[in-house]
Amino acid sequence: MSHPQSPQPRMLMPFVDLKAQFASIREEVMAAVQGVMESQRFIIGPQLQAFEQEMASYIGVPEAVGCASGSDALMLALMALGIGPGDEVITTPFTFVATAAAIARTGARPVFADIEPDTLNIDPQSIATALRPATRAVIPVHLFGLPADLAPILALAEPGKVAVIEDAAQAIGARYRGTRVGGLGASGCFSFFPSKNLGGAGDGGMISTCDTALARRLRVLREHGSGARYHYETLGVNSRLDEIQAAVLRVKLRHLGAWITRRHAKAARYRELFRQRGLESFLRAPAEPAGYEHTYSQFVIRCARRDALRTFLNGCGIPTEIYYPLPLHLQPAFAYLGYREGQFPGAEAAAREVLALPIYPELRDEHQRAVAEAIARFAVGS
Ligand SMILES: *Cc1c(COP(=O)(O)O)cnc(C)c1O
Repeated sequence: MSHPQSPQPRMLMPFVDLKAQFASIREEVMAAVQGVMESQRFIIGPQLQAFEQEMASYIGVPEAVGCASGSDALMLALMALGIGPGDEVITTPFTFVATAAAIARTGARPVFADIEPDTLNIDPQSIATALRPATRAVIPVHLFGLPADLAPILALAEPGKVAVIEDAAQAIGARYRGTRVGGLGASGCFSFFPSKNLGGAGDGGMISTCDTALARRLRVLREHGSGARYHYETLGVNSRLDEIQAAVLRVKLRHLGAWITRRHAKAARYRELFRQRGLESFLRAPAEPAGYEHTYSQFVIRCARRDALRTFLNGCGIPTEIYYPLPLHLQPAFAYLGYREGQFPGAEAAAREVLALPIYPELRDEHQRAVAEAIARFAVGS
């Protein structure tokens, strides 16, 4: 197991900088946490209720239901629709494992559909091919903060038979043709994992919906299936967003708009730096089609020489990440689905070429310049 230790170069900047964000809101956050501690009310209380209302109005839907994680949000959204064994749910193989794992956890079968090469999001035409009589839902993922092309997906999904559940875990605040994600499908699933654009002080998640009956079922399911206390109308789970998380997230939600604006500015700056250095043919910057509002939870470039570039950048003290190195249809955990290499060429090519560069609201100008200069040095040398 042990590899020879190669010396780790000192990084010029972190890949994400949660400490810088905390420094800018420390007093507000500490007061909110203290308030919960003084109240000694930790589960299903006033902070959650207020946060659910604030999130619903931010997304532009009547209902938002907190839960323990983005992964649980997806599972609960499926459970609330009665999806389980014998059902099929279509999603992308180029996403975080939780999207497909949530489907499998309900007993339903994940069915993959390939992605569009430009947006890296699920391809509506590929969904059309994967639709079968057993299909009960489609889960498009708004990957890295860019909305999936929802109009044709919603058109494919027969109302009452195939539901669209948006995996908006990476895309809070993003807009598709003017509407915030999470407000377009039957429901939208959000994650408050600390490094997401709206991150808590631990795990957390939420489901948004326009359907009040669905919201009620979600509230029952997240509390063991209990409608009235100690009376169980169905089997649910224990999956709640606790009061400390809700209090912290309420503070951070007030800053989210400003943070997204700054992420946009950083993305625009990267594009400009790449243009100035003539890097457009060496790498592909993320797509942001007209009518889509990206939130850049990640800034992911594509490059044919990705692995060598990543090693070079690491040597220059520039941290990068690969989201995702192996598409889900090729993961051992999903081997039972029987997919083979070559079935989703779009996702497989993306897995070989994607590279996430540092992006966060506090990212400094000189650091972005250092990233672009290092990439340019590599591009000239190769
Ligand atoms: C983070 C993430 C999830 C899961 O969220 P958790 O809160 O970590 O459980 C689901 N889907 C996608 C696309 C994610 O990025």
